Amino acid sequence: MGMKRLTKQRKAVLEVVRHARGHHPDAAWVYSEVRKAVPSISLGTVYRTLDALTEEGYLVPLSRPGEALRYEANLDGHLHMVCRNCNEFFDIVHPLPDLLSGVKAKYPEFDIDNVQVEYQGVCPKCRDRLERVK
Ligand SMILES: [Zn+2]
Ligand SMILES: [Zn+2]
Repeated sequence: MGMKRLTKQRKAVLEVVRHARGHHPDAAWVYSEVRKAVPSISLGTVYRTLDALTEEGYLVPLSRPGEALRYEANLDGHLHMVCRNCNEFFDIVHPLPDLLSGVKAKYPEFDIDNVQVEYQGVCPKCRDRLERVK
């Protein structure tokens, strides 16, 4: 496999994740989409490519316990709302108070360098569906 081919596959994988903005796809979804552009690509290659793109800083992995790793290409600082019905991630752009500095100062024995906030609830699609069932 030549370098040019690898680059083409890498580009295709990155494009698929980028255009799935709002969707935060997992490897299986990326695989099914990227095959439309690169039919010969294997699931293993998709996994390795997602890993490499993550290491290079093009993608951010999103993990939730008991679920496949998801990826996103939106590197602008944002938060997530996770729907408890469909488990989809939704981007939330909203300023937060500084949750890091005060805690870092209070607990200097820890080397704290990050804080994660996640909103949880029900997305509009699921809410409509759930209300129809009632
Ligand atoms: Zn939902
Ligand atoms: Zn996001």
